[in-house]
Amino acid sequence: MQDKITIVIATRNKGKKFEIMALLKDFPVDIKTLDDFGPIPDVEEDGDTFDENSYKKASFTARVLGFPALADDSGLLVEALDGAPGVHSARYAGDDATDEQRRQKLLQEMEGKSNRRAKFECVISIAVPTGAALTYEAGCEGLIAEQPSGSNGFGYDPVFYYPPLNKTFAELTIEEKSRVSHRGKALRELRDEFDKVMSWIKQQMPVYEKFKCQGDCNDS
Ligand code: IMP
Repeated sequence: MQDKITIVIATRNKGKKFEIMALLKDFPVDIKTLDDFGPIPDVEEDGDTFDENSYKKASFTARVLGFPALADDSGLLVEALDGAPGVHSARYAGDDATDEQRRQKLLQEMEGKSNRRAKFECVISIAVPTGAALTYEAGCEGLIAEQPSGSNGFGYDPVFYYPPLNKTFAELTIEEKSRVSHRGKALRELRDEFDKVMSWIKQQMPVYEKFKCQGDCNDS
């Protein structure tokens, strides 16, 4: 039987933990999150790209905790807004704003714009304590709706219209959304290669030699 590998998901979000656990259920991994450890400092997500932010979260967590760590970063890029909200998707309407306020701000910025093309992007990084990392990324293209519609999902889902299914993301079930979404696709890419990922992790993880005591070990 293969040894189990412990992987820490760099999140306190239980939803993300269960999504990833479900996806990796057939592999010998023990999934932990930051809540399984004592308090550690938050990572500032101040990178200019999803890549930078997800690497920063994964490598910081791996270095601090000494385990391989997985992090994701994602957001919405709108063509007519030169790629905004982009890496600022979570704080688009200020630090304490709600999802609803962010959607309202987006719809206001889009008033009168005929180009409604937009894309969700997701980058997943897996890092080991030395800083080496693997990256998986995926996107999903759609249009910004004129009005919010639907009540499933979170964030910008009610205003992200997905033409192939003729619905907004908030009108899809979780299963339907994860079949086509940026995060679902990136996670499946990771799952499809997970045997290789586990071998890579095993090669990269430091092995600490345990020396046997050579002298009189009862000396004090
Ligand atoms: P994070 O990757 O969890 O930091 O998410 C960044 C922000 O992007 C979220 O707060 C949402 O506003 C937005 N976002 C990312 N993925 C989705 C999605 O699948 N649906 C709706 N909004 C999303």
